[in-house]
Amino acid sequence: MPIYPTRRIIHLDMDAFYASVETLDNPTLRGRPVVVGGNGNRGVVCAASYEARKFGVHSAMPILTARKLCPNGVFLPVRMARYQDISQRIMEIFLQFTPMVEPLSLDEAFLDVTASRCLMGAAEDIALKIKTLVRETIGLTVSAGVGTSKLVAKIASDLNKPDGLTIVPPGQEKPFLAPLPIGRLWGVGRATQQALALIGVKTIGDLSRIPLAILTTKFGKAGLLMHESAKGIDHRPVEPRHEVKSIGHEETFSEDLHDRKRLEQELLALCLKVGKRTREKGMAGRTVTIKVKYRDFVQVTRSLTLAEPVADDKALYQTGRLLLAKTEIGSRPIRLLGISLANLCPAEAHGQLALFGKSRTREKDCRLYQAIDTISDRYGSGSIVPATLVERREEEQEEAKT
Ligand SMILES: [Mg+2]
Repeated sequence: MPIYPTRRIIHLDMDAFYASVETLDNPTLRGRPVVVGGNGNRGVVCAASYEARKFGVHSAMPILTARKLCPNGVFLPVRMARYQDISQRIMEIFLQFTPMVEPLSLDEAFLDVTASRCLMGAAEDIALKIKTLVRETIGLTVSAGVGTSKLVAKIASDLNKPDGLTIVPPGQEKPFLAPLPIGRLWGVGRATQQALALIGVKTIGDLSRIPLAILTTKFGKAGLLMHESAKGIDHRPVEPRHEVKSIGHEETFSEDLHDRKRLEQELLALCLKVGKRTREKGMAGRTVTIKVKYRDFVQVTRSLTLAEPVADDKALYQTGRLLLAKTEIGSRPIRLLGISLANLCPAEAHGQLALFGKSRTREKDCRLYQAIDTISDRYGSGSIVPATLVERREEEQEEAKT
């Protein structure tokens, strides 16, 4: 038997997410039954606040039914772009604690914090820190479950909603699950529940006492899964998803450029954008690629893979400049310039510092970039730019005046 290290997995689930975002954006809705979804009287409920749930309103219910149950409810349309925006900010908070984040939907994710504990504290402390951060920085509550598997963590997060924190210590999986109804298990739908009820199985504990052979005879492969789940056995790993393959920017110039200095300034401007976006995503990358399109539309790319992932403007620019020197810059007019960062990985937990190496100047750089990003967020990108770019802006303004 292989020996598994005791995993610590956190399942995080925002409370009544869409409805909570609506209340966040319009505080006069606080304490009122809010129902999000549908289109007029058609369609179904996507989310209901806890106040609305008291009237029996729940997700997937037809809007018309919800209106009958809760005539004084506030019925609102879905604002997906807004929820996506907040979701991204929530996932970025999760990524501060571990790169092992597996989002399940906009408002739910698994975190494997087994390796984060020496840096960030015990799993339960991490869960509490995340809850506090989400509340303080976003203004919403999230429920958390902590366990040794996805199965246990997910069931735990749902037990004390809203604003719950349920911890199942290692070894306590079976007693934790035993009293719960079998419907709590994944893959146990209504039909299966009815079939199991016929042989006297109502709780997960009941299920764990049914011999495997009986379950597989009755349910086939699903029977084996049920048997293991009932005992709290679930080895599925947390699988971080990185949909973003590369982060890049490019610019087509209003007139073809051949001046080397001017092109380097343009490159720098692109690096600032790519660097900021990379850091916003909590990522870093090893492969820098520049793209150059000449006046005659012939396009070339030049790439370099670095030993360590980077996320800072300076490293991007230095690498990009080296690559630019490998093109026909200065001798052949260029109509388009682009730079991208690929081979992405999550920025290490806590340690954006780690991305920048251990040296003091790097550490300083890291703090500098965080400060620049904060200022850009507040006052718009371009409020802080390197001196070489200021030169260009003044030129542009001169041009604009004439
Ligand atoms: Mg939720």
